Amino acid sequence: MKLLFATKNLHKLQEVEKLLDGLRLFSLNDFPDIPDVKENGKTFLENARLKAESIHKKLKVPVLADDSGLEVEALNNGPGILSKRYAGHQATDTDRIRKLLKELKDTPLAGRKARFICSMVLLTEKRTYQVCGYCHGFISFSPVGCNGFGYDPVFFLPDLDRTMAQMSMDEKNRISHRANALKKIKNILETMNEA
Ligand code: IMP
Repeated sequence: MKLLFATKNLHKLQEVEKLLDGLRLFSLNDFPDIPDVKENGKTFLENARLKAESIHKKLKVPVLADDSGLEVEALNNGPGILSKRYAGHQATDTDRIRKLLKELKDTPLAGRKARFICSMVLLTEKRTYQVCGYCHGFISFSPVGCNGFGYDPVFFLPDLDRTMAQMSMDEKNRISHRANALKKIKNILETMNEA
């Protein structure tokens, strides 16, 4: 089955292809004329579903869509679904990290508890599947590491004594929110292939 992963983010695409044992996926980079889908749902799951449904309607191929982001305890679980737009529409990862660290500057370690969330929707001709994956950690006091993307340099994993940006892609793929969601998608795909 040829699957389209609804992203333009090459880092994410690489992570997901690796997690699906090297399965080659189409991505939105293969369809540059498809306009961006408005992610105006109230939850990560709603946004993933909106994306999957809109792209499936246009291309009529099986679609895997995700929405992911960061929830920080001291920010009442923000930035949440606004993770990407946290510092404005044109902002870079560096701008978002700077804003996050500024907002948390008076917050001690205990309040810096955070989690990454990834909701995924797999939409085929026959059915819609939805799953969720999590990764728990803390927001560090300054950025460390240069691997990965997004908030990785400030997402600290106490058990591993490193930020997500200090991990190789293989290490991240063992513990990330996306990896945990994709394990469930992989089981679904295997069951579909057996049927
Ligand atoms: P989206 O799922 O592409 O909409 O991502 C939303 C936001 O969450 C973006 O700003 C990403 O930088 C951030 N994000 C999602 N997944 C990760 C991750 O694995 N590491 C760091 N940031 C992430």
